[in-house]
Amino acid sequence: MSSRSRIEWTETTWNPTTGCDRISAGCDNCYALALARRLKAMGSAKYQTDGDPRTSGPGFGVTVHDDVVTAPLRWRAPRVVFVNSMSDLFHARVPAEFVARVFEVMAATPQHTYQVLTKRATRLRRLAPDLPWPANVWMGVSVEGLDVADRVEELRRVPAAVRFLSCEPLLGPLDGLDLSGIGWVIAGGESGPAARPVDPVWVAQLRDACQTEDVPFFFKQWGGRTPKARGRVLDGRTWDEMPVG
Ligand code: SF4
Repeated sequence: MSSRSRIEWTETTWNPTTGCDRISAGCDNCYALALARRLKAMGSAKYQTDGDPRTSGPGFGVTVHDDVVTAPLRWRAPRVVFVNSMSDLFHARVPAEFVARVFEVMAATPQHTYQVLTKRATRLRRLAPDLPWPANVWMGVSVEGLDVADRVEELRRVPAAVRFLSCEPLLGPLDGLDLSGIGWVIAGGESGPAARPVDPVWVAQLRDACQTEDVPFFFKQWGGRTPKARGRVLDGRTWDEMPVG
């Protein structure tokens, strides 16, 4: 599969919902949870609903934003849009009707390319038959370790134009992960003060599996105290492969 440069694109985040709850080890150091706490303290209107203190936190209660959902209709120039950097669209507390509205807006704006990422793969698979799947929607699941590989099985049943895996923060080897039906793999280590180290062997094995299966591979970072602390070079080069959407 060929690749293309990201340079031609403007990148944007779009958060029609905010808030979430931790559900697996990949969530342990959720940056959105920490950021929501700060945004609430600063008085940001979108972050005033508190979540369950056991799994969420101040300002991180699941909230839908009717005033945000139509924003892409006003963006004329093509953008790559990361959907819900501050939430999980398929969280059980986001009504199915609202998920459908988000997808309708994506379908109505084919000039943009949307990347939607979830850890709630079962709900994704259940709602998928009732959603439009235009070519500009790339659908992904987070896979931080083999213990959540069932998310990939669910994703394979979703009729998205591009199905992708976000293996970040990579917390263990993904040996033997079935990549059939997958069009893109992103990998990365964790960053932040409590970052858990990534083993270079895990990254190289995943890259090799992608090459064998002809799946574009994108390596974001080694991680560390900051995202740039250890760079993003693997075996002497950067890996910026992208699917052709
Ligand atoms: S699913 Fe994503 S947004 Fe939700 S708690 Fe986990 S890392 Fe944070």
